[in-house]
Amino acid sequence: MRHQHRERFQPCRRPARRGRRLPRAAQRRVVVRRGLWGELAQFPIPRAEVRQRRIAAGWVLPMAGAPIERGAVLIGAHGRIQSIGPDHVVPRPPGVPASEFPDAALLPGLINTHTHLELTGFEGLVTDPEFPSWIRGLRQLKTTRTPDGYLQGARRGLADCYAAGVTTIADTGDSGSVIRVLAEAGGSGIAYQEVFGPHPAQAEDSLAGLQRRVQELSHLTSSRVRIGVSPHAPYTVSAALFRSVAAWSKEERLPLAVHAAESQEETEFLLAGSGPFAQAWRERNIPFPDSLGIGPMAWLSKHQVLSPLTLCIHAVQLGPGEIRLLADSGAAVAHCPRSNRAHGHGTAPIAAMIGAGVRVGLGTDSVVSIGRLDLLAEARMAGQQAGLSADQQLELCTIASARALNLEAEVGSLEPGKWADCTVIRLPHTGETPAERLLASSQDDVLRTYVGGKEVHRSE
Ligand SMILES: [Zn+2]
Repeated sequence: MRHQHRERFQPCRRPARRGRRLPRAAQRRVVVRRGLWGELAQFPIPRAEVRQRRIAAGWVLPMAGAPIERGAVLIGAHGRIQSIGPDHVVPRPPGVPASEFPDAALLPGLINTHTHLELTGFEGLVTDPEFPSWIRGLRQLKTTRTPDGYLQGARRGLADCYAAGVTTIADTGDSGSVIRVLAEAGGSGIAYQEVFGPHPAQAEDSLAGLQRRVQELSHLTSSRVRIGVSPHAPYTVSAALFRSVAAWSKEERLPLAVHAAESQEETEFLLAGSGPFAQAWRERNIPFPDSLGIGPMAWLSKHQVLSPLTLCIHAVQLGPGEIRLLADSGAAVAHCPRSNRAHGHGTAPIAAMIGAGVRVGLGTDSVVSIGRLDLLAEARMAGQQAGLSADQQLELCTIASARALNLEAEVGSLEPGKWADCTVIRLPHTGETPAERLLASSQDDVLRTYVGGKEVHRSE
C-alpha cells in the first residue's frame, strides 16, 4: 500500500467548487418508488433538506489517521463535516440533534468503483459458464426491460447500496437511468455512459450518438453527480471508436471507464486473433482490430485510451510490462474480485499493481455476476488474495476507491471540509481491532447511512 501511505496523512484539500444545483423543483421533489418491488419507499430528499447533526460512536474510523475510541462527528448544515475527534472535544451546539451508537463504528461511506445498477432485479437470470455466451445472454435479457424497468432497477439498486453502507457509486450502463436516480436522490457518483461498436465504419456515428446522449443527460449533473463515458471493451468496440472517444473525453475532461483485461477469451482475441470473440467478429464480417499480438492493456495504451481519467475495470489478465504501462499512464483500476471468481477469470495482481503505484479501488460488478452487492465481502476477498491487513482492506473500499475515481478531495475519509458521507455499522465481537470487527459485520449491521449529511438509510 505504498502509494496510499504516501498520501494518507496529507492535509485535507478543500473540495472542488460547487457545481450547478438541480432546478428548484427537483430539489423539493420526493421520489416515490412503487410497483415492481412492492412496498412504497421514499427516496432521500436532496440537499435542501440537510440538517446539522452530531453523531457519536464507540469507534470513529476517519481513514485519515488512527481510529478514535468514543469519537464523534459534527455535520454542518451545508452537508459537510465540520468537526471530528474524541467525543469530549467535538462541539455540541445547542439545538443540534445528536445520536449515539456506543456499540458501532462510524466510518466514511463505502465507495463502489464499479457496478451496473440498471441491472438490479436480474440476479441469477444469466448462468452460462462460458463468458462470451454469458455476455450474449445478458444482452438478450436487457432487450426485455423497458425504460421504466431500468429506472425501477436503478432506484432499487441505489437503495440497496445505501442499506449496505455505500455512498458513492461509479456505475456503467447505457439506459441513462442511474444518473437520473442519482440526481433525484441527491446522491454521489459517476455515471459512465456506455458505447458499443466493433465495426470501424460505425465509429463516427457511434461517437456522435454518445455525444448526443451525454448532452441530453448533462442537465442531471451537479458537483456530486458526474457523467463519464465508457467504451465497453476491446471485444465490442473498434480501435477507431476507442481512439475517438478517448480523445473526446480528454478534451471535455470526462472520466472514462473501460472493461479491460477481464477474461482469457479477450486476451486470446487480442494476442492471437482467435477464440470465441474472434469467431463472433468473423461471423459478423467485422474486420479484426489492427495491432493484434499484444495484451489488452498494451492494446489500450497503443490506442491512447489510458490516462489519469481512465478507470480500467477488472485488469486481471496482465502480461509482463502491462502493470508498468498502467502505472506510467496514471490510469486507475476497479478491482472486482468476486465477479472475477464467479466467471473464472482468475485473480488480478493487485499487490503488484498497488506496489507499482497504480490507484486501485474496489468494485462489485453487477448483481447478474455476483447476486447481492457486498463491498465488505469484496474487501475480505481482496485481502485474502493480496495479503492485506484489515486496515488496508477498509482503505481499499473507502479512501483508495475515492483516489481511483479522482474524488479523494471530496469523499473517502472523514475530515473537516469533506462531504459528510458516512455509515454507522454495528461491531460484532469477532476480531481484535475495530477494522477486523467491521470486516466481520454483515449488511444487517448497517444501522445508518448519510450522504452529504442527509440520512438515506436507517435500520432500527
Ligand atoms: Zn462490469
